[in-house]
Amino acid sequence: MYTALRLQQKLKHELARGEVEILVITPDPYMTYQPFLPEAAAGSISPRHVVVPLRRVLDKCKILIGEATAIDHAKRTATVTTLATAEEGTGAVELPYDELVLAPGSVSRTLPVPGLADYAIGFKTVEEAIGLRNHVIEQMDIASSTRDPAIRDAALTFVFVGGGYAGVEALAELEDMARYTSRYYHNIKPDDLKWILVEASNRILPEVGEEMGTYAIRELRARNIDVRLETRLESCEDRIAVLSDGSRFPTRTVVWTAGVKPAPVLAATDLPLNERGRLRCTAELTVAGVEHAWAAGDAAAVPDVTADTPGTETAPNAQHAVRQTKVLAENIAASLRGAPLQQYAHKYVGSVASLGLHKGVAHVYGRKLKGYPAWFMHRAYHLSRVPTFNRKARVLAEWTLAGLFKREIVSLGSLEHPRAEFELAAGGKRPGHGPDGARHRPHGGPLPGPEGGSKDEQQSDPRGN
Ligand SMILES: Cc1cc2nc3c(=O)[nH]c(=O)nc-3n(C[C@H](O)[C@H](O)[C@H](O)COP(=O)(O)OP(=O)(O)OC[C@H]3O[C@@H](n4cnc5c(N)ncnc54)[C@H](O)[C@@H]3O)c2cc1C
Repeated sequence: MYTALRLQQKLKHELARGEVEILVITPDPYMTYQPFLPEAAAGSISPRHVVVPLRRVLDKCKILIGEATAIDHAKRTATVTTLATAEEGTGAVELPYDELVLAPGSVSRTLPVPGLADYAIGFKTVEEAIGLRNHVIEQMDIASSTRDPAIRDAALTFVFVGGGYAGVEALAELEDMARYTSRYYHNIKPDDLKWILVEASNRILPEVGEEMGTYAIRELRARNIDVRLETRLESCEDRIAVLSDGSRFPTRTVVWTAGVKPAPVLAATDLPLNERGRLRCTAELTVAGVEHAWAAGDAAAVPDVTADTPGTETAPNAQHAVRQTKVLAENIAASLRGAPLQQYAHKYVGSVASLGLHKGVAHVYGRKLKGYPAWFMHRAYHLSRVPTFNRKARVLAEWTLAGLFKREIVSLGSLEHPRAEFELAAGGKRPGHGPDGARHRPHGGPLPGPEGGSKDEQQSDPRGN
């Protein structure tokens, strides 16, 4: 989005004269500001405000909702599937291009852990963040209404795998939200909820440095969060999380945030990839060894020209991704005009992380902050970074209102099944409902389980649905 935005500014005369066309291929009509996903899960920002509508922002570009499934750069064509190609049954279309910008980001990096594909959820999209929020609150509803202690325990146990900022922020924000929400339940106390963070290495939040990472562990443990270092998830079959230290936790919630890998489309191109599957790039953000191909963001292995050690690549984070787009757009415009290209050079300035409302940790420009000042810095930094004035204003308004009113504690899990009520009225059996028509919550089950989860869950539902 940022590259296209800058290009439509830089090439506005060429666009006006019809000499240039910018086509953006994207599966969703919006850009997601991922660093705000934990706050969206906590209910501090509404889901619509962590995304930016591409058609409005990129009003001089053509937006095609679809997915590039392959790229033949030698022939300058991208193979693209769209909603229409699926409807028409015609198969993918081939789109020709002159210049290619490839920035498909990354996807969750999973390991062959038994049960993971069936029961776990990631935390990279707005759908996952909101689904998880609804799920957590519904688990509290289940725990509150069951008479079976085993079901209650499993419902109130939440396992997060991966101690980077996605995992730590998601856990910390959701724990904070659930702790607050529990005050509205007559039979759930904050300490009844069990939160477990499983991290394979001996530290969390490497982005904020060792000292601040250690502080974050202390802060989380003080909130009764069970942080397990040098531990791995070995299995989550049958909704039992088995850890490498031998412990077993019956749970309906396993959140997998243990790293990312490059988007799969990269493997379906004729462009050079490095050993980790990222596009081999130059510091000018061209794809190495080929002409007319450019890349940025998580998908691009860009040499870090500011690093002391040769061979270092820029890390896959928003800090680099957003800055790279500026150079990328400048360079494309320069190359069209026959001007020299500039190198991307940005020294990593550190990181900020939220650990829930009014709690945080930061290590930025050599300064270490914790608690309220770090949380404030986190908000100020991301507010300055979230794209468009419209979204900045809305996010700021939401934060201000949240300070005046109480926090949102509602779960709208049924939004995921909008036809269910009508289907029942029309005489059908709603998905997620038992034979008597009583509600059997889809999200009462394991994640993702939209159709109500496993047989085992159906037998053990306290309401017998
Ligand atoms: C919860 C969370 C918190 C984070 N917090 C921070 C933070 O505090 N600071 C920080 O610096 N970074 C943070 N990050 C990382 C940061 O968000 C990413 O590094 C950044 O979004 C990468 O940008 P990108 O443009 O490369 O990829 P993305 O933002 O992932 O965008 C890639 C786009 O390409 C689309 N796409 C993928 N495949 C195709 C295809 N085949 N065809 C068409 N389109 C395709 C995707 O749908 C997506 O819209 C966080 C990430 C997460 C998940």
